[in-house]
Amino acid sequence: MFDNLTNRLSGVIKTLRGQARLTEANIQDALREVRMALLEADVALPVVKDFIAHVKERAQGQEVLASLTPGQAVIGIVHQEMARLMGGQNAALNFTTLPPAVILMAGLQGAGKTTTSAKLAKYLREQMKKKVLLASCDVYRPAAMEQLRALAQQIETDYFSAEAGQSPEQIALAARDYADKHFHDVLIIDTAGRLAIDEAMMAEIQRLHEVLKPIETLFVVDAMQGQDAVNTAKAFSEALPLTGVVLTKLDGDARGGAALSVRQVTGKPIKFAGVGEKVGGLEAFHPERMASRILGMGDVLSLIEEAHRGVDQEEAVKLAKKMKSGKSFDLEDFKAQLQQMKKMGGVAALMDKLPAQMGQAAAGMADDKSINRIEGIINSMTPGERRNPALLKASRKRRIAAGAGVQVQEVNRLLNQFEQTQKMMKMVAKGGMAKMMRGMKG
Ligand code: GDP
Repeated sequence: MFDNLTNRLSGVIKTLRGQARLTEANIQDALREVRMALLEADVALPVVKDFIAHVKERAQGQEVLASLTPGQAVIGIVHQEMARLMGGQNAALNFTTLPPAVILMAGLQGAGKTTTSAKLAKYLREQMKKKVLLASCDVYRPAAMEQLRALAQQIETDYFSAEAGQSPEQIALAARDYADKHFHDVLIIDTAGRLAIDEAMMAEIQRLHEVLKPIETLFVVDAMQGQDAVNTAKAFSEALPLTGVVLTKLDGDARGGAALSVRQVTGKPIKFAGVGEKVGGLEAFHPERMASRILGMGDVLSLIEEAHRGVDQEEAVKLAKKMKSGKSFDLEDFKAQLQQMKKMGGVAALMDKLPAQMGQAAAGMADDKSINRIEGIINSMTPGERRNPALLKASRKRRIAAGAGVQVQEVNRLLNQFEQTQKMMKMVAKGGMAKMMRGMKG
């Protein structure tokens, strides 16, 4: 996610950090770079202009020039302004209504509405203990209804089946009745999308809004669409009283433009981010953390939250104890860690949240398939070798490679990755996460 933008911005940050003194010329140069990086990432021009103007005004003020670490101060300003651009604070869903709280999902076809409806249902059930009912008003595409029904079944959430011939409004009202009678806390209504903005679609969703009076109307938009996403967002926000936005496909190679522009353009908060095709891939959107990720500072808080959710606590505690007792991190631990990573939604999702440099260190094992290969290699080692990787000289490596059906280079690559991780673990054991982050950023 946002790789190019992050690379360019972390370049600017590095230069700034290295300056003992900042002059207006330095600041100008840095801001020119930031401006170019944002434009290349497809951030809307008025948004970029406004952003740069804000940062410039603050960067040339006393708060920076009088600071002992002016470079750092400018970075802080860029970070704060970026978070502000994306809304400042996380905006939670509104549930201040009699149940069922109705959530209407709007957006173009392919944006990820149906997937997001199911993800949201799962999220609300697991994180907020809500009883959720899902319903689809897409009467034009039976496949879309079927998709939601299948997802509902997968996440073991109630699904309201429409009767043949019912109109979208009839389905919506019947679903609400049903939710009322069966004590659902939340009703999520998926709607029909079109490939492009279309009057009939807008009229239909406006009617649905009218009859349902939802407490939340969420606009779902594909972050990979860049400027188009922003234009669509604008059209929807003019047609409907949106209460929030869900940005999907932030795991893909989105350039970042949509994430940075959509709040400013619609005036509506981004409430959630979709990060993956699986039903677990939905996160509450935190502007400040997203700004850290975009600037290559890593999103350690989200990572920790996720870790609490996904990780086998016992394993984690065992490892922490071992590190504290001064024992070294061995290949068994490395393997256990990889298994945890797989549980936490795969490597790609995790790497995005690490600071840029740490992410690069982990990049060698960029997908679950390579994790399986690495596991295969470790499995071909004897227990003694796993505990003491120093034993692994050429002949042993050849034996292991043959056993795992890989080239010797792959064994070497694995050992390299292992050493990097081992170094990281040593830093963690010595000084905790904060110290490690500083070490990595410097
Ligand atoms: P709809 O037409 O708006 O209902 O869109 P769908 O929910 O059918 O999603 C369209 C495609 O995008 C599907 O292949 C989804 O798996 C995929 N998709 C949805 N959300 C995400 C996401 O956050 N990340 C990724 N990578 N794919 C997504």
